[in-house]
Amino acid sequence: MEYILKTTGLCKQYKNFMALNGLTMNVPKGSIYGFIGKNGAGKTTLIRLVCGLQNPTEGGYELYGIKNTDKSILKSRRRIGAVIETPSIYTEMTAVENLKQQYRILGLPSFDGIDEILKLVGLEDTGKKKAKNFSLGMRQRLGIAVSLCGNPDFLVLDEPINGLDPQGIVEIRELILRLNKERKITVLISSHILDELAKLATYFGFIDKGRIVREMSAEELEAVCRKCMRLNVTDTTVLAKVLDDMQLEYTIIDDKHADVYAKPNITQLSLALAKDNCEVLTVEEHDESLESFYLSMVGGADHA
Ligand code: ATP
Repeated sequence: MEYILKTTGLCKQYKNFMALNGLTMNVPKGSIYGFIGKNGAGKTTLIRLVCGLQNPTEGGYELYGIKNTDKSILKSRRRIGAVIETPSIYTEMTAVENLKQQYRILGLPSFDGIDEILKLVGLEDTGKKKAKNFSLGMRQRLGIAVSLCGNPDFLVLDEPINGLDPQGIVEIRELILRLNKERKITVLISSHILDELAKLATYFGFIDKGRIVREMSAEELEAVCRKCMRLNVTDTTVLAKVLDDMQLEYTIIDDKHADVYAKPNITQLSLALAKDNCEVLTVEEHDESLESFYLSMVGGADHA
């Protein structure tokens, strides 16, 4: 797999406090990487480091294969578009004026592409309306539009759905999906709401107390959180053979336990197993919901 961002043992210390404590993460090219953790886990700190706003105390990272200590890291960073904490927009300006200003800052030779960006984020009809009169969702989309001005292929969004109403959340989600699919932009999106990220991320990194506790694909997360029947039998080799014959999907956990992703007819199953001297000891429904999985990853006590 090709990675846009790879960090190794990244640390950031503020006086006696370790905001990042040996963080190792890998953002696959083309993914929507859901960076998930409680408030204060270190998400913004990681983003600030990668964008070059702060330096790590220890460890390092590679952006497009370039080490953070290499001079050409600046070139790699130019490929990033970022909205960190609050969108950096001028509230006294219209949407078009904001983008023109960003074009000037980036030293772009013409204003070509501004209409297209505004259309992409759904702000093409805002005319003379100043950003201060925009809804929170519109401001967030304008922030994303500004970050798209340099034509980045890696977009970093820090809690972009924070405080948005349901309509605003849907709009941001659809925009991110569009940018990822149509423009092939890799997206790193941080949030403390797994439920929201689960609807769009293709890859997940769970962060707790400054380190990644687990990275997994959306398929792996779905499998973990899927409802299933957990069977305790005397021999899972026999069980596997019988389940294959019944064409049921399953995962063998150990020699006595397996998860079956459908409700099998237990009488039929028991009879088939008995023929090969295998006994069903217990059957229980197993449902690892997203939320309980999240809490098992990042701890629940001070979950925000
Ligand atoms: P949130 O969603 O609340 O922003 P986060 O996961 O993004 O959470 P960070 O903003 O990265 O968390 O902060 C991680 C920890 O580092 C927090 O406990 C924060 O108080 C601390 N921290 C961040 N910046 C500084 C700083 N400049 N000086 C001291 N401590 C800091």
